[in-house]
Amino acid sequence: MTPNARESTSEPLLDEAKHAVVIVGGGPTGMMLAAELALAGVEAVVLERRPSAEIESARARAGGLHARTIEVLDQRGVAERFLEEGEAMQVAAFAGVTLDLGDFPTRHPYGLALWQKHTERILGAWGSEIGVVAQYGREVSGLMQNDNGVDVRLADGDTLRAGYVVGCDGGRSLVRKLAGIDFPGWGPSVSSIIAEVEMQGEPEFGFRNDALGVNAMRPLEGGRVGLVVRDENLDRESDLTLDDLRAAIVAVWGSDFGLVSADMISRFTDATRQAANYRAGRVLLAGDAAHIHYPAGGQGLNLGVQDAVNLGWKLAQVITGAAPADLLDTYHAERHPVAARVLRYTMALTALQRGDDRTSALIEILGDLLDVAEARDRIAGLASGLDIHYDLGEGHPLLGRRIPDLALVTADGPLRVFALLHDARPVLLNLGEPGSLDITPWADRVQLTDAEYAGTWELPALGAVVAPAAALIRPDGYVAWVGGGTDTGLRDALTAWFGPPTAA
Ligand SMILES: Cc1cc2nc3c(=O)[nH]c(=O)nc-3n(C[C@H](O)[C@H](O)[C@H](O)COP(=O)(O)OP(=O)(O)OC[C@H]3O[C@@H](n4cnc5c(N)ncnc54)[C@H](O)[C@@H]3O)c2cc1C
Repeated sequence: MTPNARESTSEPLLDEAKHAVVIVGGGPTGMMLAAELALAGVEAVVLERRPSAEIESARARAGGLHARTIEVLDQRGVAERFLEEGEAMQVAAFAGVTLDLGDFPTRHPYGLALWQKHTERILGAWGSEIGVVAQYGREVSGLMQNDNGVDVRLADGDTLRAGYVVGCDGGRSLVRKLAGIDFPGWGPSVSSIIAEVEMQGEPEFGFRNDALGVNAMRPLEGGRVGLVVRDENLDRESDLTLDDLRAAIVAVWGSDFGLVSADMISRFTDATRQAANYRAGRVLLAGDAAHIHYPAGGQGLNLGVQDAVNLGWKLAQVITGAAPADLLDTYHAERHPVAARVLRYTMALTALQRGDDRTSALIEILGDLLDVAEARDRIAGLASGLDIHYDLGEGHPLLGRRIPDLALVTADGPLRVFALLHDARPVLLNLGEPGSLDITPWADRVQLTDAEYAGTWELPALGAVVAPAAALIRPDGYVAWVGGGTDTGLRDALTAWFGPPTAA
């Protein structure tokens, strides 16, 4: 879907009394969105109810990043910070088969094992450098929307005005509820307890799968034990005690291994739901606030970070008056189908975790199918996020897909495509005759780079594609227009995505 090219609202939406954007929730999604807005020069504040940026162990949920998220961070020039602290490895798997991305055409043909608390810490540190403002101990308790903005009420009695509010407030999102956005989907069929505990006995480290699911124990720092154990109680909201945990451990392992105490106990289920709309007027949703699912496959944080990168530049353009507000509708149009597909994938993964004989038979047959390279690439493309294709209409296969990080040659020397995206500004990459494309009326918003590229063009899970003569690259790294040697369609694409031309 391409946004309608309409007259831009020339009036910026911000007046002095209010924030351009209030982001509710300073988890990975909220902090990534704040970073994107900061890069775009748009004022925003993150309101986080936790008392400080400190992340307790309870938040050490996600075990890592998939390849497309690493690429997205590379587009901003910060991937190395994450790569230095984590361990690159093949993390994508389906039906017991590891999906090796090794031959995918990307600089990052792997996932990154890195606990969520580190991901959040690194994101937060980068945000501080580029001007992200986050306020802690600030719990949002109410919202009131009108034509000009949103009034935000806080639990401490304070009120703020915002041009837009983005709910990045997690799976139980209050913003979603207050905006009246439905959250249809599937209730839980399995439940697990995740805990960090002290045990006096000898724990049995490793996995123990049974007909009801996956159970595991691993050693943690300081002699503590991290564990995931299935739970009979499907009610995620109900209280959880040390005795509940003890009973669950004994039911699986036959012993509580001298369980003494727990620093953290939390329950998660395979409830799978997605917001019916990611936007209600001036309120938008991103991350877990917009979609929840079972953690198998490690997708949630990745989806949230990529939601933020899709939304940030669009919101920035609407706020500065460069583009009309209906540009924001492309956020739902693009990101809802991506998450819907991932949700189905996690539901399939959950079903495959049943340890019964029939499921084992299914896993065996799927394993055979995954020997076929095309089948394996298809699932690997989905799991890694490298095959994302936004529906921007018919045309060259690159349209709506990620631009590869090619090694270009320019008049000033070698240049990587992703280096052009560090500032989160759109780029027109001209690979044809230098100077053959003129975008002077958009020069204040779009960078034009003349370059040469001699190699082949290859896309993950798709293979070789015809080399384009030019590509209009959005700040999120997706291609909005592909040139075949002329500028046909270029003005329309520039106007649709980045607003009307500036008068000479
Ligand atoms: C066991 C487990 C394992 C997982 N493994 C993976 C994995 O390997 N890979 C992966 O990608 N994902 C994984 N996930 C999912 C991942 O943790 C989430 O998808 C991710 O944290 C979502 O980020 P978020 O910023 O959208 O929401 P959250 O991380 O939930 O952050 C929301 C923030 O909003 C704040 N907040 C809430 N309400 C308010 C309010 N009213 N006012 C102010 N602040 C508020 C909260 O304090 C919180 O800081 C896992 C999850 C679990 C449970």
